[in-house]
Amino acid sequence: AQSYVGFDTITTQIEHKLLKRGFQFNVIVAGQTGLGKSTLINTIFASHLIDSKGRLEADEPVRQTTEIQAVSHVIVENSVKLRLNIVDTPGYGDQVNNENCWDPIIKYIKDQHSAYLRKELTAMRDRHIQDTRIHCCLYFISPTGHSLRPIDVIVMKKLSEVVNVVPIIAKADSLTLEERDAFKQKIRAELVYHNIRLYPFDTEENDDEEIQLNESIRNMIPFAVVGSERNVIIGGKTVRGRKNRWGVVNVEDREHCEFVQLRDFLTRTHLQDLIETTAQIHYEAFRSKQLLALKD
Ligand code: GDP
Ligand code: MG
Repeated sequence: AQSYVGFDTITTQIEHKLLKRGFQFNVIVAGQTGLGKSTLINTIFASHLIDSKGRLEADEPVRQTTEIQAVSHVIVENSVKLRLNIVDTPGYGDQVNNENCWDPIIKYIKDQHSAYLRKELTAMRDRHIQDTRIHCCLYFISPTGHSLRPIDVIVMKKLSEVVNVVPIIAKADSLTLEERDAFKQKIRAELVYHNIRLYPFDTEENDDEEIQLNESIRNMIPFAVVGSERNVIIGGKTVRGRKNRWGVVNVEDREHCEFVQLRDFLTRTHLQDLIETTAQIHYEAFRSKQLLALKD
């Protein structure tokens, strides 16, 4: 009888190992104070909380953010483990002088690259490196319905040089649907006008499917979202929502806002690509610059 080596199971073994180890996915939020950054983080976690480890409890009120701080939860879906870290940042833009207000965020992102590079240069080759590199930056835009503020343009440009930037219209419940769509279109046009190259990036390697996926994201951004730290009961079901005198916004209703679309984008459709783009474009740019500097 022929002996059975079993290397046909290798891919499933590797897959199993990867799944057991799980993905680590790191997101940072940025934008002016009071736009609902901390609230949205709480909302994302609350919307599929399984195993939690962090300071935010389901109904704990949001406090003012005074320092850069990571909140971490493990999400399990179909036996795939995802460790989702979201880094909260204090807002800015409320000072008289906003010069270099983005520096702490840029520094935080670069520090993670530099920590990864250090580990990469010293770690044994087969050892798994804990990845704290930021895979996505959610940039919060004020729902003015007018246009981007000069500071948005400057900060998004700076951020886009080091990280995948995904713009978001905050507190979208303050815009009517017509206002929202017009604002989204306006912002997209302004991003082009100011030559701000945001995620996703097209590369020559992209196949038709990827090109189409990228196009769908470009037509979607900025995601117009609503966050809430409160549960409301709609039709007997407890959901995250905002209740006021004339009605309830159900955060998880696709008709009400684009929270679910954003969550799917982050944790389903673009998870892998955000991680790969970070490694191949942003980290690689950092790495080659550092290694070049070492040679001199
Ligand atoms: P941060 O400074 O960006 O972290 O903002 P916070 O999360 O602390 O929120 C500031 C205030 O805005 C709080 O009173 C929140 O309840 C409120 N808020 C947060 N998200 C929304 C939203 O989507 N819509 C509305 N109307 N208010 C929101
Ligand atoms: Mg905050």
